[in-house]
Amino acid sequence: MRLASYVWRGREHVGIQVGDQLYSLSIHDPELRDVRQLLEQGEEALARVRHLEAALRAGEHPLPEEAIAPLEGVRLLPPIRRPEKIICLGLNYRDHAREAGMPIPQEPIFFAKYANALAGPRDPIRRPSRVEQLDYEVELAVVVGREGKEIPESGALEYVAGYMVFNDVSARDFQFRTGQWTHGKTFDGFAPCGPVLVTRDEVRDPHALRMRLWVNGELRQDSHTGEMIFSVPYLVQYFSQLLTLRPGDIIATGTPPGVGMARRPPAYLKEGDEIVAWIEGLGELRNRVV
Ligand code: MN
Repeated sequence: MRLASYVWRGREHVGIQVGDQLYSLSIHDPELRDVRQLLEQGEEALARVRHLEAALRAGEHPLPEEAIAPLEGVRLLPPIRRPEKIICLGLNYRDHAREAGMPIPQEPIFFAKYANALAGPRDPIRRPSRVEQLDYEVELAVVVGREGKEIPESGALEYVAGYMVFNDVSARDFQFRTGQWTHGKTFDGFAPCGPVLVTRDEVRDPHALRMRLWVNGELRQDSHTGEMIFSVPYLVQYFSQLLTLRPGDIIATGTPPGVGMARRPPAYLKEGDEIVAWIEGLGELRNRVV
């Protein structure tokens, strides 16, 4: 299933994407404005939504006309708008660690972005005036579906609601000011994600997805989620030892090589640049720097 948060005719909705249309679940529940709320309602609620999706796919019309919006005509919001946590992995791809001149980590390195950083899949990325080294990082983001603590690696995927594309926008001139990278990572709008949350049942193997990123049509990152060092189940297990994972929590699993910082000469983003971040089966983010 493909679940979206969006604005349509001045109202916020959560809906299901079927083809190039969105079907609003908020028509009957106006308080529903974030996919996270749907995840919090649990398995039974999701089963009802699945049932509805099957009916829509079968060509039935169980929803009123005003529940239908064209995908291209809405403002897509980050699918998860108010997560409790956004956990970001650093150096989780071997080649990226090498290009950054850093050792291959023996233990996951992580830092935080906060909810202020979230942005929709087509929103502009605003370069703060003090930032001169603006960079991109295409990443697979995992969204937690169930509350869990001390989750064993073997059953970890059952705690995953689904996946989305994530651009870990980074200000390199702030990131390395101290030993803590969060400095350069959590400016407003530095985490475009989406375009929708693709539920786990539609992604057979999260480590079998091609991923790419283009700047103004030039291919800059071209890799595969199979190259990650710490796998999705390992990361769910690992973080659930440190803290309680909750529905809607986001784990951004790190970027492959090809970032602007590692190019010779470095190629940072400038006003007007269009960044397209794509992952197989999940869709693409298309954000312009302003
Ligand atoms: Mn990153």
